Amino acid sequence: MAFTLRGDDAVQELQPSPIPAPYWVGFSSSAAKLVNIPLNDNGYPKDESWLEVLAGNSLQTQSSQFPHPIATVYSGHQFGVWAGQLGDGRAILLGEIADQELQLKGAGKTLYSRMGDGRAVLRSSIREFLCSEAMHALGIPTSRALSVVGSDLPVLRESIETAAVCARLAPSFMRVGHFEHFASTQNIARLKELADLLIDQHYPDCRIAKDPYLELFQQICQRNANLVAQWQAVGFCHGVLNSDNISVLGITIDYGPFGFLDQFQIDHICNHSDQGGRYAYHRQPQIMHWNMACLASAFIPLLELDRSQEESQELLTKALSQFPVVYGQTWQSLFRQKLGLMTAQEDDVQLIESLLQAMHDSKVDFTQLFRGLADININAPVTEIKMRNDFLDRDAIDQWFADYIARLKSESSIDAERKLNMNAVNPKYVLRNHLAQVAIEKAQHKDFSEVTKLLKILESPFDEQEQYTEYASPPPPDLSAIEVSCSS
Ligand code: AMP
Ligand code: MG
Repeated sequence: MAFTLRGDDAVQELQPSPIPAPYWVGFSSSAAKLVNIPLNDNGYPKDESWLEVLAGNSLQTQSSQFPHPIATVYSGHQFGVWAGQLGDGRAILLGEIADQELQLKGAGKTLYSRMGDGRAVLRSSIREFLCSEAMHALGIPTSRALSVVGSDLPVLRESIETAAVCARLAPSFMRVGHFEHFASTQNIARLKELADLLIDQHYPDCRIAKDPYLELFQQICQRNANLVAQWQAVGFCHGVLNSDNISVLGITIDYGPFGFLDQFQIDHICNHSDQGGRYAYHRQPQIMHWNMACLASAFIPLLELDRSQEESQELLTKALSQFPVVYGQTWQSLFRQKLGLMTAQEDDVQLIESLLQAMHDSKVDFTQLFRGLADININAPVTEIKMRNDFLDRDAIDQWFADYIARLKSESSIDAERKLNMNAVNPKYVLRNHLAQVAIEKAQHKDFSEVTKLLKILESPFDEQEQYTEYASPPPPDLSAIEVSCSS
């Protein structure tokens, strides 16, 4: 629901900047259904005025009006360093539709654009569009993407590219950075307004808690701990976990140089600009915890409304200390499911971690390996398991498979049942970089068919989709090292 703060210290009221001669690059009929947009037989809006609205060229369709677009201000920590004021530098919140905020990313300059041009390029817009919808289909909380609209408007990055606008949907795009902004400017009235808005619209049960703001903080931490555990379980690396890119609803937002793991490397860095590996795969949980610490600092003035600073800090520190506990529980539960384990046993963490270690040592494909585990016949010798050939140390992996099968037998696991359960949590299809790259290159030549095809495949990531099996394969060697940076 809508971001309702108004006034110069919180938002800028402005119109999107039009793009010339817009055209559809991608459209998600599934996201359109979420906000009740009627579609034609091709899966695009019946009402053609949506194209102009989602391009940022108009503010009304036959049935919807967006009379008060805004950009919001936030601040944040970037790569661990306080960056001061940021804000929606290229995202414009058009308004609300069916309880979702509708935001146009790349819709032109705002007060918060700093040195930027307010635009987004086709390449990064396609990536955000596809990944938002893919993550949703994987069951991972995320902002949705309704469309990508392109234009031949040139945009300068490392080279000249063309502009696109990605229309995003979320119940709220409120971020940790919004709280950090009003805490850092010591605008406690605004800070309180923001927290009250969040509670009233998205965490209504906090209102009846003994201490609503503390409860709110705890629930935000829980959601983000669960979120990052879900990322780890599908091998998703966000790439830029700055505090301004962290949602206070616990949803994945701001897709940039993200990546799904191909070959499993625990310290994989997906963002070419992240030289120190701050946002590497294995550091994501710790970094999310760190971001929750930033949020805790911003919450101190809220708790202080009712108690001393010391007591406020103590309460928040205690709440924050629950983050690793929640994360650990969810992580274990998700990886048990990935292995098809129905019960929890003491040595499970060791079993999971030794598999991950072996995968790391042999650079085994993350998605394929977990998908393939479902095919194990627990009554056949381990030497018949095809995947053992993916590992360099066969004796070690044979031992692991033997332990795994013993573990499955200890809970009387049935092959067919387990396979069904495992295939419902281990996707066959994820948005591998090389797949996105093919769609992008075709789109840059005005062929958008691959965007549509990839979207369709990724909307059913757990289904076999035999006709698309090549999309489940790891990248060919020449495409395995695509570099994705912050440039977007
Ligand atoms: P990001 O890393 O994409 O989340 O962006 C960090 C900050 O830079 C946010 O405040 C963005 O709005 C802003 N920003 C990024 N790219 C641009 C751009 N091309 N024009 C204006 N602002 C931008
Ligand atoms: Mg951002």
